[in-house]
Amino acid sequence: TKWVYTFGDGQAEGSAADRNLLGGKGANLAEMCNLGLPVPPGLTITADACVWYYDNGRKMPDGLEAAVSDALVGVGTIAGRAFGDPEKPLLLSVRSGARASMPGMMDTVLNLGLNDETVLAVARDSGDERFAFDSYRRFIQMYGDVVMGLDHEVFEDILEDEKARLGHELDTDVSAAEWREIIARYMATIEQELGVPFPQDPHQQLWGAIGAVFASWMNARAITYRQLHDIPASWGTAVNVQAMVFGNLGDQSATGVAFTRNPSTGVKELYGEFLVNAQGEDVVAGIRTPQSITEAARIEAGSDRPSLEKLMPEAFAEFLTICDRLERHYRDMQDLEFTIQAGKLWMLQTRSGKRTAKAALRIAVDMAGEELISREEAVMRIDPASLDQLLHPTIDPHAARDIIGSGLPASPGAATGEIVFTSEEAVEAAKTGRKVILVRVETSPEDIHGMHAAEGILTSRGGMTSHAAVVARGMGTPCVSGAGGIRIDARNGTLLALGTTLKAGDVITLDGSSGQVLKGAVAMLQPELSGDFGLIMEWADATRRMKVRTNAETPADARAARSFGAEGIGLCRTEHMFFDGDRITTMREMILAGSEGGRREALAGLLPMQRSDFIELFEIMKGLPVTIRLLDPPLHEFLPKTDEEIAEVAGAIGVTIEKLTQRVDELHEFNPMLGHRGCRLAISYPEIAEMQARAIFEAAVEAAKSTGAPVVPEIMVPLVGLRQELDFVKARIDAVAREVIGEAGVDITYLVGTMIELPRAAIRAHAIAEVAEFFSFGTNDLTQTTFGISRDDASSFLMTYQQKGIIEHDPFVTLDIEGVGELVRIASEKGRATRPDIKLGICGEHGGDPASVKFCDSIGLDYVSCSPFRVPIARLAAAQAAI
Ligand code: ADP
Ligand code: MG
Ligand code: MG
Repeated sequence: TKWVYTFGDGQAEGSAADRNLLGGKGANLAEMCNLGLPVPPGLTITADACVWYYDNGRKMPDGLEAAVSDALVGVGTIAGRAFGDPEKPLLLSVRSGARASMPGMMDTVLNLGLNDETVLAVARDSGDERFAFDSYRRFIQMYGDVVMGLDHEVFEDILEDEKARLGHELDTDVSAAEWREIIARYMATIEQELGVPFPQDPHQQLWGAIGAVFASWMNARAITYRQLHDIPASWGTAVNVQAMVFGNLGDQSATGVAFTRNPSTGVKELYGEFLVNAQGEDVVAGIRTPQSITEAARIEAGSDRPSLEKLMPEAFAEFLTICDRLERHYRDMQDLEFTIQAGKLWMLQTRSGKRTAKAALRIAVDMAGEELISREEAVMRIDPASLDQLLHPTIDPHAARDIIGSGLPASPGAATGEIVFTSEEAVEAAKTGRKVILVRVETSPEDIHGMHAAEGILTSRGGMTSHAAVVARGMGTPCVSGAGGIRIDARNGTLLALGTTLKAGDVITLDGSSGQVLKGAVAMLQPELSGDFGLIMEWADATRRMKVRTNAETPADARAARSFGAEGIGLCRTEHMFFDGDRITTMREMILAGSEGGRREALAGLLPMQRSDFIELFEIMKGLPVTIRLLDPPLHEFLPKTDEEIAEVAGAIGVTIEKLTQRVDELHEFNPMLGHRGCRLAISYPEIAEMQARAIFEAAVEAAKSTGAPVVPEIMVPLVGLRQELDFVKARIDAVAREVIGEAGVDITYLVGTMIELPRAAIRAHAIAEVAEFFSFGTNDLTQTTFGISRDDASSFLMTYQQKGIIEHDPFVTLDIEGVGELVRIASEKGRATRPDIKLGICGEHGGDPASVKFCDSIGLDYVSCSPFRVPIARLAAAQAAI
């Protein structure tokens, strides 16, 4: 097996196509080499080696060591140095790199190969002692933390302590002699804390670091990240071992990160930050505040610290050319890491840049305009789930703002919540439904859980590319970073801002689009879905085959759904219409009536209310299809439960407490989900279905008059398992239709269909389709009845199932394609066999889940129906499914 791939000097054994084997970083380093870009030479140990390592009880594969040694000879030749050589030592970076980018999840070790002897060689060779010892102390810090497992704070404490003693503010102020003292303290502390000395042998250092990268694949942070992002543990990580280049070699050296377009807004402008005389993670760690790369950005930020453009114009010009070249080559916005060593530019990484949903839309639209990608590709470039971010509210521009601080606008959108200072508190609060803002000096990968749980994130340190900023943008969570004026005292649970002291639990609002921090809750505005969003939606609509409807019963939801582009209502649940105000009383009278006559009387009172509900929906939908489901839940859901409630209700409707209690007892069910509900109600009490049908038909006649558009209502009978059930209910509906047509003197076109939500219905779909003119797959209940899992009780064990790897996804969120999906497929085929033009749709939660939408397209459903806010997601997902 070939475990090692080399790159350097304009050629590489791998390329961008080898991502699965070499990881994203390794594959792109190879690709950049092949493009002739300046990349320090190195080698990549394949992800297969990591897989082998875990399959074999954490042992390195045979032959790996020899292959690495061979490759290192080549690397040294290109660099003009040799690994472990006391005169001309080759120093290395050891970096992890998985197939999917896992930012910050695994740690990089820089300057490897330094020891008490080689550091002197580096000092001689560079003529810069400060540089040599600065590099050595960095190496000891990183290696001590990442490989030897000594908390990095131990080193930071020593450093802070020494800096305070010496009166230095910045690391760059520390002299060579002072670094030597600090290093001596580091070494002593390591021995004292760990009982072993810091390894001096470069080979031992190297294999320690490689082992640490492999081991880090299974650390808690990485496991959490993989869970959150659906990355399989079986992929493993590659290891990149690369010759060092030094950004800490004085004034003409620097290190930085950049995006080829603005990752927040998508605007086509080079966007990035750098630090002079710095190395590695200094820029993202937020210890020193970085400088702007371009002059334009510097001016916009109002900074008096020079841009890279001014400071190192030649390296800057070359960098611009490379940015452009890489963007055209990859045909996507790139996120780059670079280092300038004594004026010479080196590329250390490129990858497709993470971006906000807003930026993703802008970039896709612009790139289509630049003819870099096609419109279909532009549609494919947007993650449907990310559109959710755009549906985030923003702060009402007219609202009063009590500004208590400001930082960088790191991730857009506005959020309000109570202050918490730790990720644990954020997670706890979210569990009980409290909205919180996570407030930290800076965040680290350990904070991922808390960041997920929080509505917004505020940090007092760090730039636009700090950990907090990058992760927040990826999650679509509003974030203000580097709010330097805010003093956070996590230990005492206080935050001091502009003279105001706030405590944990106090409410603040973040404006992630302006960087402002506001006291209290502030009025918000709902987002505008025009511009780039509108264009992508237009392109998506031009491509998709399936229609997208919404699940809505209130006029507000129906209007919102229309504005999001819904093409009708796929599910109007009528039970919600019986809970409002007086209606519940009339409904209860109906339920308590002892005879059909009494029930009909009460229902007559409900008829005008139902009719006006439907008229409004039909008017909003102006001729678009509207599917109305007849009453579905068991009747006891409309009755009071506790003794106090019963007493109150009995008084209100004028029956005795005994009578009401008796009726409540009669209607009690052990398993309501499988009880007297759905079409079973319509069979026991046909008058209910008849009233609803009458309300629908009369409303259709009305609305057709008022809008001038014909209304074709689709009446849906729930929970059918037997064809005979549908026969019975349909006969009643047809009879009512004839009556209304006679009374109104106009013809009414309508459809009667059923929800397929029982396995029996799916299996007998051919028979049911002889009666039903449409099927709507009620996949919430169908999942429940297929699995025999109660969705109201499932959360306690489905979580465990996911943790133990029994199931990958919650089947109530993403359709179980193998099981429930198979029933949907069978029912569709059988239904079409007896009624070729049968209308097929889905109206469960899955109608707005991109993976489920894709499946629905593949089996030829006519439409999906989902909640109003998911309509844009479903439109895009339906388009992607069709491409
Ligand atoms: P991450 O996955 O966290 O981005 P990287 O492997 O890219 O980690 O390394 C982090 C940083 O270390 C880089 O941004 C770069 O500044 C520095 N670095 C990595 N390799 C080298 C190298 N060969 N020479 C100099 N600096 C390096
Ligand atoms: Mg890292
Ligand atoms: Mg990197």
